[in-house]
Amino acid sequence: MSDYDKPSRAEDEYFAKQELERRKQWAKDRSAKMAVDEKEQLKQAHWMKCPKCGHDLETIDLHGVKIDHCPVCETTVLDKGELEQLLDHERGLFQRVMHIFK
Ligand SMILES: [Zn+2]
Repeated sequence: MSDYDKPSRAEDEYFAKQELERRKQWAKDRSAKMAVDEKEQLKQAHWMKCPKCGHDLETIDLHGVKIDHCPVCETTVLDKGELEQLLDHERGLFQRVMHIFK
């Protein structure tokens, strides 16, 4: 084997680095996929279940806002923005009552 055919130390390091990066990316991709699978499993197990007693939640209409309610333990679960919608409704009702007394 001539010196020309021998891989240089720099080449060895280059390919070792490439292999290391490939393995790191594989581990990162695998970890991300496991996180997605785990999230999906949690969602499947807990979607529309009461956080206190675990029974199925029902969607009910409260002043025009669709909220989730547990018929077993009477817990009410509000999604993002639903509390503000209910408070807006109450504020409007309060202002209408106060307008009567003006
Ligand atoms: Zn419940």
